[in-house]
Amino acid sequence: MRILTRMRRIAFAASPSGLSFVLLSWILVLASSYAQNSSLSIGGKLKLNQTIISGGKEFELGFFTPRGSASNQRYLGIWYYNITQTVVWVANRENPIAADDSDAALVLSDNGDAVILDGSGKTVWSAGVSTPSPNGTFARLDDTGNFVITQASTGVPLWESFRHPTDTFLRDMRFSRNTTTKQALVWTSWKSATDPSPGQFSLGLDHNSSELYLWNGSVPIWRTGLLKGRTFTGVTTMSAFYIFGFNPETNGDEFSISVSPSFAGKMRFVLDYTGSIVEYRWNESSGKWFDYWGRPSNKCDSYNRCGAFGICDPSRSSICSCLPGFEQSSGGCARRIPVGCAGNSSSGPGSDSSGFLTIPAVKPPDQALWIRSIQSKDDCQAVCLNNCSCTAFAYAPDLECMIWTGRLLDIQQFPSPGNGVDIYLRLDRSELENKKPKPWKVAIYVVISTIVAICCAIFFYFMWRHRRKPRESTKEEEKRESTAYRPCSSMNSCSVSFDTILPNKEGEETGQGLPLIDLGTVRDATSNFSNENKLGEGGFGPVYRGKLPEGQEIAVKRLSRSSGQGLEEFMNEVKLIAKLQHRNLVKLVGCCIEEQEKILIYEYMPNKSLDAFLFDKKLIPQLDWGKRFRIVMGIARGLLYLHQDSRLKVVHRDLKASNILLDATLNPKISDFGLARIFGADQSQVNTCRVMGTYGYMSPEYAMEGRFSIKSDVFSFGVLVLEIVSGKRMTRFQHEELNLNLLGYSWKLWKEGKALELLDPSLDGQCNEDEVMRCIHVGLLCVQDEATDRPAMFSVVQMLGSAAANLYEPQMPAYSRRRHLLESDTSSTDGDPRFQSINKHTITIVEAR
Ligand code: AMP
Repeated sequence: MRILTRMRRIAFAASPSGLSFVLLSWILVLASSYAQNSSLSIGGKLKLNQTIISGGKEFELGFFTPRGSASNQRYLGIWYYNITQTVVWVANRENPIAADDSDAALVLSDNGDAVILDGSGKTVWSAGVSTPSPNGTFARLDDTGNFVITQASTGVPLWESFRHPTDTFLRDMRFSRNTTTKQALVWTSWKSATDPSPGQFSLGLDHNSSELYLWNGSVPIWRTGLLKGRTFTGVTTMSAFYIFGFNPETNGDEFSISVSPSFAGKMRFVLDYTGSIVEYRWNESSGKWFDYWGRPSNKCDSYNRCGAFGICDPSRSSICSCLPGFEQSSGGCARRIPVGCAGNSSSGPGSDSSGFLTIPAVKPPDQALWIRSIQSKDDCQAVCLNNCSCTAFAYAPDLECMIWTGRLLDIQQFPSPGNGVDIYLRLDRSELENKKPKPWKVAIYVVISTIVAICCAIFFYFMWRHRRKPRESTKEEEKRESTAYRPCSSMNSCSVSFDTILPNKEGEETGQGLPLIDLGTVRDATSNFSNENKLGEGGFGPVYRGKLPEGQEIAVKRLSRSSGQGLEEFMNEVKLIAKLQHRNLVKLVGCCIEEQEKILIYEYMPNKSLDAFLFDKKLIPQLDWGKRFRIVMGIARGLLYLHQDSRLKVVHRDLKASNILLDATLNPKISDFGLARIFGADQSQVNTCRVMGTYGYMSPEYAMEGRFSIKSDVFSFGVLVLEIVSGKRMTRFQHEELNLNLLGYSWKLWKEGKALELLDPSLDGQCNEDEVMRCIHVGLLCVQDEATDRPAMFSVVQMLGSAAANLYEPQMPAYSRRRHLLESDTSSTDGDPRFQSINKHTITIVEAR
């Protein structure tokens, strides 16, 4: 209306000639159509074939039929303007209108209510507004995606779609709760991908705290943990990637939490019908949504996975254990020794037999009691000691004092300090004394360790002198050693010196405690790097099998001096793996830098690498379908951990069959982090002129333009999945007649509805067809040409893991025709000066930019 008035004024300001009359009429037509297109006034109607578009053309409101739905029904909804149907709100979720009911409409009724009437005049849905003075009331769709009914006289919103959400949280929405009635806004999933009626999953604020819960019916299945500062304590990667901050606010009797995204583009959080919360971001250049983040993402995210007094650690193979001082009992964990409690007796706090054990960096247990106005940890501890049913407490300046009474539920161990909170577990003193050795024991321990250390130092000194003698013969070597030799004794652990060489990009401490193993020990362990002990040769040098004096079997990666892996890549690998721990990542046991040697020592994987199995006719029969599927899932989980669940965001950059190691039970472990890169909090892509990776596994945008991101790893994962299913090597397979590589051939079979023919003939049809189809489908989605068309690993894990997952259709993958680029994994330049291979496996492509 204001626009209309302003335009009229402009027109009258012009001369009252015929021209201005024409101009006026034209402006009025324009203005009225604008008014009609962005809002409804009293009596205004929106028919099934009409829409309202927000002023800045961000959102559109109208009737729609869900994409992919076979039904002939219409829902009133809001979606993004000019983007393939992305519905963010639905009005008549349970009462759709028949598509041929041409008289049905949304009407702004005389009492200011928004009502959907079907052709017979029956009310199908109503906003429920009734205003005594409806004059001038209008309904408008804002550019935020909020449909608002406003009373013109007061300008006060009478009703907002933002306060009646469906399954989508938009950036200007708020999670809120009435502090008196405890009623909270609730987001509810759709029933299925094509049915907007309320599904079984819902999301909203807890009745009392600053915590969000995801429910399946009335059962909690995930929670965010309490808000600490601007991040949730129960969401691991929040501090690293979600600095955008959640802002709590109390306004009158409303407590709310809003979001300040650091991402400026279009974004939305969707509670999908499978019970996951997924954050989608819009990529302007590709014109596609990509899934950026999602929860629940690991088994420990699922609510109270390990029961009362249990703790869940997703990085361990057996994820559940009891808290210290507790032991397994029927139905969960129970205290070993009951806590004798003096409570608030006259003898005062602390006089009972209990004390506290720190459990660092955990998702704080559910159902905390907040104790206000406590200024210190000691005071908080005193509150807990004074309450006989207090089982734990936590104190942090942002959270103040929290205590738990009764059972401790839903505790998750986070990978590192800085995530979650430290809780103090109440235990009987005798339990703590077990942990704290008596002073006299400590003294004896110190004396004995000192004597042993001195003896060892003397022994190793003589050993070292003995070994070095023959090498000190030439002047040349003396000179070299004086400049390059870094004696181990000057370092306590590998990480100490690395920080001075490689600046720590994340500002975090490096992997402390990684043992430095001296060269003599490594030589002894590997029979002086004998050929018989050689396991294989990777991009940066040979790998030897060995045994440490204490019996542990190891794999020793000796970086060849001629290799492309310089000190930087070496440090990179050490720093990275030392910080990461997951059952699907290979474990670094130690390292050694001595006499120009750079050596990494890993746990030994008796089944070597996946390629050794997959592409060997004798060994392949050992990989039945069940094992292959577990390997695919394991790699996917390891990669998800690297991309999202660890405290860092790591892009591996060289994922391939030879970098997947298999332990004794054929559990896969991702290895070789020489090329891996840590990404910053909001970094989604890096451009490099030094393209390094392996032919056939490299995504097109990385190989051609030097752009890499987590989606480059997704591409390599897709190739790997298709190799595992087909038993064919990407770099060797060629369909002669059709000139197709593995990706093109998989696509051809998929399009022809014959995807199962891709299955490795050695499996002899013995497989779970549903799993095979899912693997091929996901594999093809992962090798899409456009990075944004590839799913994030979060979705990959979900799609692979659930038969009910809704998978979108793949397009033709990248490199479908066999290209020169893929022709050999042994060639060095292929006649193209841009491509230079440094070895037969991993290549460096240096591209002039
Ligand atoms: P890489 O340099 O990491 O690519 O390793 C080269 C080869 O050495 C691999 O393909 C494996 O066959 C073998 N290898 C590497 N690490 C290990 C390990 N931890 N245990 C057993 N074999 C390994």
